[in-house]
Amino acid sequence: MAWLDRSARSIFLWDLVVGFYVGLRYFFAPKKTVNFPFERGPLSPRFRGEHALRRYPSGEERCIACKLCEAVCPAQCIIIEAEPRDDGSRRTTRYDIDMTKCIYCGLCEEACPVDAIVEGPNIDFSTETREELYYDKTRLLANGDRWEVELAKNLELDAPYR
Ligand code: SF4
Ligand code: SF4
Repeated sequence: MAWLDRSARSIFLWDLVVGFYVGLRYFFAPKKTVNFPFERGPLSPRFRGEHALRRYPSGEERCIACKLCEAVCPAQCIIIEAEPRDDGSRRTTRYDIDMTKCIYCGLCEEACPVDAIVEGPNIDFSTETREELYYDKTRLLANGDRWEVELAKNLELDAPYR
């Protein structure tokens, strides 16, 4: 019995030393956590956040109303209406995304032949009402205008892997 007591004591002391060593090591190690939202970790160029509709540098909308994004969306949350312009080009008259249905699969972006609809790096778009998450064309184009620099950079970084 005395031998068992000694063994248990030494195991306890060993665990104490190891525990102290591990604690000390991680105390001085670089932190794995960040103080969100004041600090943020890096995001991949492929990160699928809030949607945006992009324009060309001339200001013209990229979207040609092919409706591929609408067709491929598994959540059926995109609604597009379109009509030809005077110059014969097709452009959308309505582009809605019901963000409450979206599952952020990224298929709309994958399907788009002109990089018009994209999912950007913005994750700060929570709302207090459902209605605010029914995005229309004006909202999506405004997102594109706001995030164009980041969107273009992410598409460029991802291009070699496509
Ligand atoms: S990310 Fe997926 S679910 Fe969301 S709009 Fe695009 S295709 Fe639809
Ligand atoms: S966003 Fe792209 S895929 Fe969708 S209708 Fe416009 S051009 Fe076609």
